[in-house]
Amino acid sequence: MAEIVIENLYKSFDTKDGTVEALKNVNLSIESGDIYGIIGMSGAGKSTLVRCINFLEVPTKGRVLINGKSLGDYTSRELRKQREDIGMIFQHFNLLMQKNVLENVCFPLYIQGKSKKDAKKRAKELLDIVGLGDRTGAFPAQLSGGQKQRVAIARALASDPKILLCDEATSALDPQTTSSILALLKDINERFNITIVIITHQMSVVREICSHVAIVKGGEVAEQGTVEEIFTHP
Ligand code: ADP
Ligand code: ADP
Repeated sequence: MAEIVIENLYKSFDTKDGTVEALKNVNLSIESGDIYGIIGMSGAGKSTLVRCINFLEVPTKGRVLINGKSLGDYTSRELRKQREDIGMIFQHFNLLMQKNVLENVCFPLYIQGKSKKDAKKRAKELLDIVGLGDRTGAFPAQLSGGQKQRVAIARALASDPKILLCDEATSALDPQTTSSILALLKDINERFNITIVIITHQMSVVREICSHVAIVKGGEVAEQGTVEEIFTHP
């Protein structure tokens, strides 16, 4: 079975103006080690889908299975552990602005209960991997967008995730920096066999790095397949 399986997933939100159907009958499977793109315009339902994969939203109908297990199969304690297996990076990096680069990466390691010494050692290794080993003392405000995203990637890797969810992670970056971040993600995918799910509105990102893609429109998967199949389609 695929690492991520989404079956007949529906998610609706009740608002004062009525019910919003954010996701309608979504079916996807993402194999371990894949780089999978989920592409769609703003409002298509991408963030809701990510939140369902991360077990932050309870499906209205259907289910999400990560390695064969769905939300209901976990106790709340196991769920916390499960969420550690899924790293996330975001468009606006979400770094702690008052902490330096090293401390930003140490943060999840402290939460895991690592000692200060062990956390710093591991954080330094992770920053070397993302090419920022020489900026450990810098503060986020002193870094470029690409460098901030590298710190966020190092932080996401701190919990040794099996899956990395990238939510519009290159949308705030120029094309050249985008390419360098995508190259880093590819490197991480190959070195650590981490499954990467890329949520984006940018076709170029999917073409550059993904092997499979799903096109989401109005809460539904309009098309899915290999990037070759989808983009050579008449
Ligand atoms: P995307 O990430 O593709 O921009 P979203 O998943 O954020 O799309 O949103 C899909 C639709 O669901 C939108 O119409 C949005 O307004 C709606 N939506 C998302 N989250 C909520 C929520 N918590 N409450 C009400 N509506 C929501
Ligand atoms: P994105 O950057 O993907 O478009 P948004 O900024 O629209 O995401 O949404 C940020 C958060 O707000 C998400 O968690 C989403 O579920 C929630 N959200 C989106 N639309 C609504 C809405 N209409 N009402 C309440 N919450 C919403």
